[in-house]
Amino acid sequence: MSSTLSSTLAAPHATALDPLSRGLLDLLGSSDPEVASILAHEAERQATTLELIASENHVSTAVMHAVGSWMTNKYAEGYPGKRYYGGCEFHDAVEDLARERAKQLFKCGFANVQPHCGANANIAAFMALLEPGDCVLSLPIKSGGHLSHGLKVNFSGTFFKIVDYDLDPQSERLDYDRIEALAVEHRPKLVICGYSAYPRTIDFARFRAIADRVGAALMADIAHIAGLCATGTHPSPFPHAHVVTTTTHKTLRGPRGGLILTDDAELAKKLDRKVFPGSQGGPLMHVIAAKAVAFGEALRPEFTTYCRQVVANARALAASLASRGYRLCTGGTDNHLMLVDLRARAADLTGADAEKWLEVAGIIVNKNGIPNDPRPPMVTSGLRLGTPALTTRGLKEREMERVAEWLDRVMISKGEAAVGAAVRREIREFCGRFPLPH
Ligand SMILES: *Cc1c(COP(=O)(O)O)cnc(C)c1O
Repeated sequence: MSSTLSSTLAAPHATALDPLSRGLLDLLGSSDPEVASILAHEAERQATTLELIASENHVSTAVMHAVGSWMTNKYAEGYPGKRYYGGCEFHDAVEDLARERAKQLFKCGFANVQPHCGANANIAAFMALLEPGDCVLSLPIKSGGHLSHGLKVNFSGTFFKIVDYDLDPQSERLDYDRIEALAVEHRPKLVICGYSAYPRTIDFARFRAIADRVGAALMADIAHIAGLCATGTHPSPFPHAHVVTTTTHKTLRGPRGGLILTDDAELAKKLDRKVFPGSQGGPLMHVIAAKAVAFGEALRPEFTTYCRQVVANARALAASLASRGYRLCTGGTDNHLMLVDLRARAADLTGADAEKWLEVAGIIVNKNGIPNDPRPPMVTSGLRLGTPALTTRGLKEREMERVAEWLDRVMISKGEAAVGAAVRREIREFCGRFPLPH
């Protein structure tokens, strides 16, 4: 393993590592060469491949190293000023800072920064808003929703009665009239909007009107679009949603984690209790420190510029793919992601094959069902592509044309080894010109 490590470290990108990362690899290189080797290879993979998974991003080295900080050593059950453990002075300070910055970023009155991930944020929100057995109206996962919104095998689908709404089969967009009719018919206690694979703007005001008509609460899960909402690149869920949940690691470009927001002071108290002790134990204070750093970054004007470029890049990539004969679900995108129907380009092309072939070529994507996909979820007819990570490394509209060309070349070759290898070489060279920023 150690010879692999040194050869990996000798790769050109190693010189581009920040000093702390180099230090970590040196340290581990002597104390634990096996893990050192794996980490070095992963650093190399990220530096030399194009990341098009819509839910992923490259964090700044400040965010990354905050996760690897002293804060990992502490138990801090409870909340700032009300902990169950001594020694929490600086943990209170960093959690207060994270909460204040989150409120400033999303312009709301309350933030809980403790959820370990987006799914955990949703568990706490469900517990605060519902009793077991209550009815929830949501978009199913097969149409772009998230498993924590009511999938049968998930917490949400196990303990609550889920009614699905769906996309309009023609336009593949939200059908607000139909959602309203379902709400009137089933009288849910909670309506959920916010998705994992929906490329269009969400009308939060319309959702609130639907929820109000039947006395339901409205939850907006902005896990994917949080960065866009924080910078006005997508409309804000406030003042419409009663509760907003999100991840911090997608367009928001922070550490892996969850976040809950509201403007309702009464609900805020409940949400705090349902996170701890309701559904979690000790908070991940090192991640909360990194959330504070990421929110600080997101409050800077450069982050707004970044989010605008993410959307501009998604539009450019969608247009380039369409010009090559691919069909974009809903006809295009308003946000950071797109769903590509591969069958329009070649009837036998599947998401599973494309994902595998593209990885060989250095392009990382995920297969994704398209609305009413006739193929099973492990095969699919589509890809979900996103531009947050590419935009972080400095790619602009002009480069989206090249990315589309590479995608098409690999897919249309049907995974031919020589094409995969040639594209891999080109992408490795290209990535050298767009290094991951520190
Ligand atoms: C990604 C996502 C989540 C969950 O995030 P995890 O951190 O993986 O638990 C929740 N809701 C939506 C809509 C998502 O896209």
